[in-house]
Amino acid sequence: MEKVVVFDFDGTLTQKGENSWRRLWLTSGYDIGNNSAYKSLFNRYINGEFSYQEWNDRTCEYFRAGNLTSVKVSTIGALTPSIKGLKITLQELKQNGYSLFIVSGSIKQIIKSCLKDNINYFSGVYANEFVYDSNGLIQNINSTRFDFDGKKRFVELLIQNGIKPENITFVGNSYNDEKVGETGVKTICINPEETDHTDRNIWKNVVHSSTISKILPLILNKKQNYDFQK
Ligand SMILES: [Mg+2]
Repeated sequence: MEKVVVFDFDGTLTQKGENSWRRLWLTSGYDIGNNSAYKSLFNRYINGEFSYQEWNDRTCEYFRAGNLTSVKVSTIGALTPSIKGLKITLQELKQNGYSLFIVSGSIKQIIKSCLKDNINYFSGVYANEFVYDSNGLIQNINSTRFDFDGKKRFVELLIQNGIKPENITFVGNSYNDEKVGETGVKTICINPEETDHTDRNIWKNVVHSSTISKILPLILNKKQNYDFQK
C-alpha cells in the first residue's frame, strides 16, 4: 500500500450541506436551531466541557427518548444523496493504485446505506457506531477515535506505517478536518463549510463543485496548489 486518499464523509462524499447528525436530531423529533439541545451539546464539546464520548452519550439519551430506531437510521442514509461523480472518481483512483479510506465523524450505518455498492472501493471505514437494543431502539454510541484531532492521528498512523506523506491526500470540507493540515500531507477542501478554505496551513487546495471528479487532477497530476482566483 503505497498511495492513499483519505476522505471525510459528510459534505465531502455527500452533497454540500448534507449532515448526518442534523438529520438524526430532526428525525428524533428535535429542533436544531440556536437554542436547541443539539447546538448546546455541540458548543459544550467544542468548549472542552466534556469528551467526545460524553458528547455522544448525552446525544444518545436524546435520540433514545426520541425513539430513534435502526430502521430510521438506515433510511436517513438511503435518502442522503452522495456527491455526483463518486463512482467514476473512486474507480479512477483505484485504477491508479490508490488505497481509499473514510475517516468520518458520521455513523457507519449511515455511510454504508448512503454509499451502497460504492462502499466496496474503500479499504476501511472509520466512524461512530450505533448500538441498538432488541427492539431496534438506539442504546449507545461507540465513539470513533478518529474525529477532530483523531483525523490527524489517523494520517500520522499511515505515515508511521511507512506511507510517505507526499503519497497521502486528505479530502474534507469542514472544521473537524482542519487538524489534518498539521501533518503536512496534501489537503483538498471540497465545498467548504464553516472552515477558512483560504488558510493554506490547513487547506493546500480548494474545489467548489457539485461533482467530486474535480479532485482528480489535483491528485493524479500531483498539482500542489489550486489557483484561488478561479
Ligand atoms: Mg464533513
